[in-house]
Amino acid sequence: MEMELAGHYLMPGFCDSHAHIANWNQAPSAQYVYNLWLGHGVTSIRELGCFNGLDWSVREAERSERGEIAAPRIHPYPAFQPGPAGPSPIVDAEDARAWVYDVAERGAAGVKFFAPTPEAFKTGLAEVNRLGLGSACHHDQRRASQVHALQSARWGLSSIEHWYGMPEAMFRDRTVQHVGPGYNHNDEPQRFEQGAHLWLQTAERGSPAWQETLDEFLQLGTTLSPTFNIYIGSRDAARVRNAEWHQDFTAPQLWDFFQPSPENHGSYMGNWGTEQEVSWRHAYQKWMAFVSDYKNLGGRVTAGSDSGFIYKIYGFGFIEELELLREAGFHPLEVIRAATLHGAALMGIDDQVGSVEAGKRADLQILSENPLENLKVLYGNGHLRLTEDGLRRVGGVDHVIRNGIVFDAVQLREDVKREVETQRDESIG
Ligand SMILES: [Zn+2]
Repeated sequence: MEMELAGHYLMPGFCDSHAHIANWNQAPSAQYVYNLWLGHGVTSIRELGCFNGLDWSVREAERSERGEIAAPRIHPYPAFQPGPAGPSPIVDAEDARAWVYDVAERGAAGVKFFAPTPEAFKTGLAEVNRLGLGSACHHDQRRASQVHALQSARWGLSSIEHWYGMPEAMFRDRTVQHVGPGYNHNDEPQRFEQGAHLWLQTAERGSPAWQETLDEFLQLGTTLSPTFNIYIGSRDAARVRNAEWHQDFTAPQLWDFFQPSPENHGSYMGNWGTEQEVSWRHAYQKWMAFVSDYKNLGGRVTAGSDSGFIYKIYGFGFIEELELLREAGFHPLEVIRAATLHGAALMGIDDQVGSVEAGKRADLQILSENPLENLKVLYGNGHLRLTEDGLRRVGGVDHVIRNGIVFDAVQLREDVKREVETQRDESIG
């Protein structure tokens, strides 16, 4: 196939290293989510947690691979927790081995760890690595004093999600998180408020503890998948509530899911004030410095969105992640590399995708604006620019190509808008 692309920009497709295909209470359909991803140039995802069930995710991955659905390439990473067939709960080494073996048989590409017992975590990881699967971990704060991010990296973990467990790895003047006597981890407003304080309790940038930790991650080949964008409401709640794409692209039930409530994960901003936002602004500076220092040492950092929570929607959240990597100190080329080649390397498919090279698969995106000049041109609703003809929206990816199949990205985004409009009419009518 040939395309005439004079005056256009060609890039590899994006890899979203931290993605969730929404379930019924978040989105009208999986297609809504896929269209937003493809409509933002995302051609590969790691699906962490498989909240709709591993077998469902594996089927979707296969249908996508066969070209039966318009979707990115999906690598399912089920959550390491009791399943219908597995042990309940996963406590010891034997449970862990059996569980990992079972999900590998059923088609998992990797495993997402959350808060297992140290014994189950260590054995589970060893089994994951023995079978050649990928691994990711969100270090639950309740376990992080037993197994922090550096400890699990020593056990062979591939990627550290978000930021949890890293401040704890750099503690030198304490061994546990200093929380107040009334702290309740199951209360999300408290939990997210406390999160910022951990960065403020840990080692300073450039200190021996900071350097040693970075050096050891580098030596171990650990990947950081920071997902800066998903917590950005913590430092500016109004910004995420009022994002200009909600009107056209956020499905009504996703909007409802975002509203403050003790029921839904991530809906914690029911009384979020100046004190919480200011702590998070300071925490972000330190967290971003850590990630940027790691990149400068040669460490691998990827772009992950975690969309579907905290006012973040698919595709748009991913582009915001790129802007936040830029804010952390990445050059635009380093941002694009995190979002393409480094993501592909983490997924173990960098021999096939992640760069524009002869011999690789056609996993590409075509734009009429230069993202190195301004990453905002990657947003699906375009970038607002004052031109000689007046105020115009420019940008948004034109075409996306996955495994050689060409998708009209503009049309995919129009389909989402129509779906959102129909849903809204139905909920009003
Ligand atoms: Zn997540």
